[in-house]
Amino acid sequence: MNQTTKKTVKRQPRPPAQKTPPRRDLAPDRIAAILGALDEAYPEVECALNHRSPWELLVATILSAQCTDVRVNMVTPELFRRFPTPAAMAQATLPQLEALIRTTGFFHNKAKSIQGAARKIVAEFGGQVPQTLDELITIPGAARKTANVVLGVCFKKAEGVVVDTHVFRIARRLNLAKGDTAQKVEQELMRILPQDRWIAFSHQLIHHGRQICDARKPKCDRCNLEPLCHSQDKTWQS
Ligand code: SF4
Repeated sequence: MNQTTKKTVKRQPRPPAQKTPPRRDLAPDRIAAILGALDEAYPEVECALNHRSPWELLVATILSAQCTDVRVNMVTPELFRRFPTPAAMAQATLPQLEALIRTTGFFHNKAKSIQGAARKIVAEFGGQVPQTLDELITIPGAARKTANVVLGVCFKKAEGVVVDTHVFRIARRLNLAKGDTAQKVEQELMRILPQDRWIAFSHQLIHHGRQICDARKPKCDRCNLEPLCHSQDKTWQS
């Protein structure tokens, strides 16, 4: 008689799950490494908008909304030749301004903004661009980003971090910020970056965005931040 013997299989205890250590994206040493890599790649960054004074940079920055800096640099020489100061531009008519800035796009609104800015600066600031964030953001066309550009570049004052489309995108790709608006990202960056890096950091990220970290197809194989970057849309992994 065949007897089937039941084999009892002894279950082996499962090995404990391997815990992946949490990434410390905001650890000071990682942030220092990112800042170091940016310094290495962009040691001498400058504002790409041509200007000779705070007034010219203010106007150029207003014109740069939804427009390339190259295009703005093409229209500002003639604009400032015709209307070199806030007092002169305050006298300009909207059709005159529109004709000069037409190629920068949204020219009706931009003409109103720069005419309004000129009039405000003449009427309330003695013809001089003010040097505080609170005053600058009262100027037509000058929101926080424009104010931070002028303060940082012309007056070397770091009252905030310039968050344009490049800074917004790359700060999020590098997990330095998660906010879904420029203002939220700015607040996050202000919390984690040393204040003496606020001005250079923005310029460096703007250059990085233009040259390497493209919105659609980042050139990760040419990026010296790549070992520090965990972005989901990387195109190359070392
Ligand atoms: S590795 Fe790629 S996605 Fe990350 S910062 Fe560099 S270019 Fe941008």
